[in-house]
Amino acid sequence: MLRSAGVVEVVKVSSLYETEPVGGPPGQGKYLDGAAEIRTSLGPHDLLKHLKQIELKAGRTPSDVRWAPREIDLDILLYGDMVIDDSELTVPHLLLHKRLFMIEPLAEIAPGALHPILKKTALEIMKGLATAEKR
Ligand code: AMP
Repeated sequence: MLRSAGVVEVVKVSSLYETEPVGGPPGQGKYLDGAAEIRTSLGPHDLLKHLKQIELKAGRTPSDVRWAPREIDLDILLYGDMVIDDSELTVPHLLLHKRLFMIEPLAEIAPGALHPILKKTALEIMKGLATAEKR
């Protein structure tokens, strides 16, 4: 669906990772997480709008509940080396360095991708999180 859009070229796609839900109401099923590297002429805010349209087309039902179960959730993890923090968008994604389910697929396709604030690569962040989770 990302690919069919025309304004987005998918360069690389990670494996899918089955993960336990983090946060949100109890009784949710597992999620499938993945990451894609894309090339696009859209700026970050237009890309976000575009992703939301794809979510709706894919059947996501809007919910007021935070971290409610969702059919699909497309997030912008990194946008080059841009740093954005406004009412609509936080890039790098606020949880990128805190959630293994986000960083693991990213580290698979772009291990050297640099977190522009932490100045650490995706692989370094992933290893740090994996070690912390084992403790
Ligand atoms: P979600 O529940 O993941 O679909 O995201 C809810 C809201 O988070 C969106 O409507 C966005 O405005 C906001 N948001 C902030 N930063 C990001 C990001 N990096 N990627 C996606 N959504 C974001």
